[in-house]
Amino acid sequence: MTGRKDWDTYFMDIAYMASTRSQCSRRHVGAVLVQGKKLLGTAYNGAPMGVPDCSEEGCMLVEEYELHVADGKEEMIRKQRCIRTIHAEQNLLLFTDREDREGSSVYVTDQPCWTCSNMLANSGVREIVFHRPYPKDSEKVSALMAARGIAFRQIQGYEPPEGTDHRIVN
Ligand SMILES: [Zn+2]
Ligand SMILES: [Zn+2]
Repeated sequence: MTGRKDWDTYFMDIAYMASTRSQCSRRHVGAVLVQGKKLLGTAYNGAPMGVPDCSEEGCMLVEEYELHVADGKEEMIRKQRCIRTIHAEQNLLLFTDREDREGSSVYVTDQPCWTCSNMLANSGVREIVFHRPYPKDSEKVSALMAARGIAFRQIQGYEPPEGTDHRIVN
């Protein structure tokens, strides 16, 4: 018999289960809102209701350049990103109440991007726990959370549940 799951594992597992609802082939992201030990909402990345999603119409790709610094050398790397979906964290904010969010925690499968972090920073949430890293925005997001006094941490020693998509796509 295995031990009972700790709360971090329990809520991150639920975030991963929510992520399986995503229809974007590039990235499956799930997020949950927790107040104390109570689950107040779940969300995943997806197109707005009533419009075709990535599985029906394909991803809506944009190209952008990212600056990478390695061994003191700067390099521009071209990347593609799907902009069809509303990010899981943004859907979570759209479908929860401000009062419920005050002092709450968000568990999210992926480290939030800059835009989501900016919104979360103004949402009443006091803690954000993520699993997969997203290095692109990591530095500025960490600085933002520190400035807002929001606990921001990566779950350690965690294995996502069987049957969820846990590829790392950057
Ligand atoms: Zn997509
Ligand atoms: Zn985002």
